[in-house]
Amino acid sequence: MRLVRFISHETKRPENGELRGEVILTPRGEVPLSQVRLLAPCTPTKILCVGRNYAAHAQELGNEVPTRPLLFFKPPSSVIGPEEEIVLPRSSLVHHEAELAVVIGKRCRNVRAAEAMDVILGYTCLNDISDREAQKWEKNWVRAKGFDTSAPIGPMIVTKDEIDGPFHVMLRVNGETKQDGSTRDFIFPIPVLIEEISTYMTLEPGDVIATGTPAGVGPLSAGDVVEVEIDGIGILRNPVR
Ligand code: ZN
Repeated sequence: MRLVRFISHETKRPENGELRGEVILTPRGEVPLSQVRLLAPCTPTKILCVGRNYAAHAQELGNEVPTRPLLFFKPPSSVIGPEEEIVLPRSSLVHHEAELAVVIGKRCRNVRAAEAMDVILGYTCLNDISDREAQKWEKNWVRAKGFDTSAPIGPMIVTKDEIDGPFHVMLRVNGETKQDGSTRDFIFPIPVLIEEISTYMTLEPGDVIATGTPAGVGPLSAGDVVEVEIDGIGILRNPVR
């Protein structure tokens, strides 16, 4: 299934549905995709982001490869949907980071890696917009990673029964490819991440784990259009202001 959240021109309120080609199936019937604006496909209580999960990206920023997953949060208030504007903070350097996002399907705690697939709903794209200037002086990255519009998510969740890794993760700025990686190069695979995180905290349905970015991060400027694309999921496109 391809799961979407949207606001239709007709009802003007958030709804959930299943995308089938150009129509969305909902409890109230079929809604044409052309009659809606897509929202971020989930409403997480928290977004867990994994830092340096690809060795080549750790090296490009001059960081060591971690021995345990490096984790940080993005708040729910940072989430935007497809086509929504990324509003740059006051900073001399803001970077894009294309990431595969895992969406949790059920409330869970202390999940063993071997059972991690049971708690996954599916997968989507996330762009971990990062204020590198703040990241330098701010140890816990609250502002560097948590500002409004810093978490574009979408365009849809593809459920785990329909797609399997490794995932091909790409990013383009104004049509030019900047990142092109594979989750084959993960340092910590998804089951290990779920075990590590759920050892410390309860995961809720709709929570998101952003699995880290491949090499090729770079700057964004006002007027840019940035696209994260993952084969089998789709394109998450956002203009930058
Ligand atoms: Zn990231």
